Amino acid sequence: WRADLGDETLVPTHCCFCGVQCGMYLRVAGGKVFGVEPRNHDINRMRLCPKGLNAYQQVNHPDRLTAPLLRRSRGEPFREVGWEEALGHIAERIRAIQAEHGRDAFGMLGGASLFSEKTYLVGKFARVALRTRHVDYNGRLCMVSAAGANKLAFGIDRAANPFADILQTDCLLIAGANVGECFPVMTQYVWGARDRGAVLIIVDPRQTAVARTADVHVALRSGTDSAFFNAVLNTVVREGLTDEAFLAAHTSGWDEVRAAVAAYTPERAAEICGIPAEQVVQVARLFGSAPRAMAWHARGIEHHTQGVENCLSVINLCTATGNLGRPGCGYGTITGQGNGQGGREHGQKADLLPGGRSILDPVHRRQISEIWGIDEAELPTAGTSMMEMVHQMRRCEIRGLLGVCNNPFVSLPHHSVVKEGYDTLDFHVQLDFFLSETAANAHVVLPVTTWAEDEGVMANAEARVVKHNKAQDPPPGVLTDTRVLCELAERLGAGDKFRFAGSREVFDELRRASAGTVVDYHGITYERLEETGGIAWPCPSVDHPGTPRLFEDGRTYHPDGRVHLQVVEWHPPADPYDDEYPMTLTTGRTVAHYLSGNQTRRLGGLVEQTPRPWVEVHPSHGFRTGDAVRVVTRRGATVLPALVTEAIRADHVFVPYHWPYPVAANQLTIDALDPRSKIPEYKVCAVRIERAEHL
Ligand code: SF4
Repeated sequence: WRADLGDETLVPTHCCFCGVQCGMYLRVAGGKVFGVEPRNHDINRMRLCPKGLNAYQQVNHPDRLTAPLLRRSRGEPFREVGWEEALGHIAERIRAIQAEHGRDAFGMLGGASLFSEKTYLVGKFARVALRTRHVDYNGRLCMVSAAGANKLAFGIDRAANPFADILQTDCLLIAGANVGECFPVMTQYVWGARDRGAVLIIVDPRQTAVARTADVHVALRSGTDSAFFNAVLNTVVREGLTDEAFLAAHTSGWDEVRAAVAAYTPERAAEICGIPAEQVVQVARLFGSAPRAMAWHARGIEHHTQGVENCLSVINLCTATGNLGRPGCGYGTITGQGNGQGGREHGQKADLLPGGRSILDPVHRRQISEIWGIDEAELPTAGTSMMEMVHQMRRCEIRGLLGVCNNPFVSLPHHSVVKEGYDTLDFHVQLDFFLSETAANAHVVLPVTTWAEDEGVMANAEARVVKHNKAQDPPPGVLTDTRVLCELAERLGAGDKFRFAGSREVFDELRRASAGTVVDYHGITYERLEETGGIAWPCPSVDHPGTPRLFEDGRTYHPDGRVHLQVVEWHPPADPYDDEYPMTLTTGRTVAHYLSGNQTRRLGGLVEQTPRPWVEVHPSHGFRTGDAVRVVTRRGATVLPALVTEAIRADHVFVPYHWPYPVAANQLTIDALDPRSKIPEYKVCAVRIERAEHL
């Protein structure tokens, strides 16, 4: 599996920078990663986007942390210390905080860019070594609303189809997903479908690159998605385009959904969404009459206080038109983080245990306690979500925190509240390979490996598990996250539960812990992944081929085998516009950067491509590109250069979120949460813009 080219080796692996998980080779010479080559993996067929082409630069970047950093208080400078001193100090502080304030006074936050083995270890470490109920992860900021909708409707949390099915559809609807910039290589499937004659419908307040080429672009107001999809479904019903045989055979709740959407006429949707009523009818006819139709969405409809409902309204439309379980028909969420799918499967989420088990289910608790070799009574109960944990930090209910692979100082909404929460902590440890804004505020920072210095698996947006391979040894002084957690467990008296030599042993335990669940990895081995290029779960045995497409037998993963359709009612956003803040702010990504930017804001080619943030404004506001614009919400203000474009609605502005304070988009965003999934409402809040004197 490695190509030896004399003094150079090509190590096959996958890109770390989004949920597409393109195959790539890392070029290695003299034991060091120095470049990248495209790889003819069937996900990406030799294509890589700018992030993928530049990802290798982070591996031997001069900013890499190579020694633990420690300080007794935030006012002091960091000093480099040895691992023994750092780990001993951390264990001592954890013990002291928990002895004085209880087990739950120490929390843990993981990340969905970690390999699945490490996400499994984060959940196990929190419950077994720390014995705290407070563990969550940054996927809470990503697609948990889609996950909640999937579980409610289908009893399984993943996309229903492989990317390749997109090529077979007759009508492709993409809602709230800037595919060209956030998942660039997935665009090949969109173009492929269109080249084969598919109709392309984009639902997005912004005219993104893909929206410019669409047959229909529905530029609706941010925060109105469920009103739009309810009205589309209402029109589908009125025009006789539902698949009644499918509904009768495979669903429950249809009568209630049909009755509820009757109130959403195209005229009412037009008023709520700020679009022509004719577009509702047009989309209903195109989607409802297509022999094969499918819908994909991303954070644009998920980052809302009704994120779960928004996703359910899309599921209702796909199901009512019979578009499930066949090639070219289906539904999926496009995961944003490299391991956005796998990161939520194996127990680092506040309410879940490995295999997507519920931590509140007595049977599930017993099963996992047996695998972990602990008394069931010792297993903590469910904790709270990431943003709720920040509020608990502010109230001193959580006094210590261990963060792994996340950067909440940039990624969480309402920055001033987040900073207050972290500043209130008595003790904060952060694991990272660069000094992120969050790590720079910690008491101890531990230097850990990049994705190229360890092996492990990730699950991409298709729920296809792929294998990442180690291309070089870590720099001297750097340990794997796995080793760090095992060493800490040893010092906390739980070492016998963490005897892992590396990722392979962790993966074998993960496979056993997932066996028999819906999220079944039992039949997936490293060897099979290297042979096949990836296997979609569920995969219960080593002779099982995996499950690229769900529901082919007409059954979902609920015990009755039916799609549980859910009534959805539209609600206004948490922070509606008014006279003082008359416009809507929406936020998102740009092609050159990843998440909080900690990994991409230092990579030469990407910084040259997009060095700083901006505010996208419509020409009707009288600015010229480059003018200084003050962007003000009820939580903060920042000054950004204008990018004047007709690609945004006149009543909206857009700011990308990859940069820290004082130009952070998340100084402006609201920390209102979806009550079901606890995802923050990043995509809509009230805003005003003013001319500023200078940048
Ligand atoms: Fe990496 Fe995603 Fe770009 Fe592929 S599309 S190269 S996985 S960032």
